[in-house]
Amino acid sequence: MRLVLLGPPGAGKGTQAVRLAEHFSCPAVATGDIFRSHVANGTPLGRLAQEYLDLGDLVPDEVVIEMVMERLSASDCDNGFVLDGFPRTVTQAQALDAKLAAAQVPLDAALFFEIREDELFRRLAGRSATLHRSDDTEQTIRHRLEVFAIKTRPLIDYYERLGLLLRVDAIGEIDDVTKRILEGLDQRST
Ligand code: ADP
Repeated sequence: MRLVLLGPPGAGKGTQAVRLAEHFSCPAVATGDIFRSHVANGTPLGRLAQEYLDLGDLVPDEVVIEMVMERLSASDCDNGFVLDGFPRTVTQAQALDAKLAAAQVPLDAALFFEIREDELFRRLAGRSATLHRSDDTEQTIRHRLEVFAIKTRPLIDYYERLGLLLRVDAIGEIDDVTKRILEGLDQRST
């Protein structure tokens, strides 16, 4: 199963990505996590990415694309992957399409996590209190939501036109959201 997860920060993509990856026995590839681990290890990529992460800006396309393409070339992605946080721009989506077309493997679906903004702020405030992510301050959250609206929202149309978009109501219990996704994917394949 080859899936991409789209949605604003705080919509629960990371949580569902791990569950879906387990269900389909394939890796969850979370670009934010990869960047944070590079930052923590002080790698050159981490030093480059840090200022973007702290400001809530997107890391430049060419940097992210190279990193993700390399990750997807690893053999554990041969039978599928769940991409969390990529693509975030149309350029990134095109790069992914080109790679999958070259390998002659199609994307199965793009899940769009739908959620109201008040619920997002409630969740992100909780996350910042427990996880201490440096980019979960109120100002950065607002900025990340703007970046999502401007750069990432166009991907909803992009995947809709390709007939790949699956809208998911992201509000409710974690288990219920997982169930909705699996049912939605089942219906698409029948
Ligand atoms: P969230 O979805 O909660 O905003 P992530 O953990 O997915 O958080 O991403 C954190 C940060 O990592 C982003 O704000 C951005 O700086 C960087 N990042 C992650 N994925 C991408 C991407 N595909 N393109 C550009 N920057 C990215």
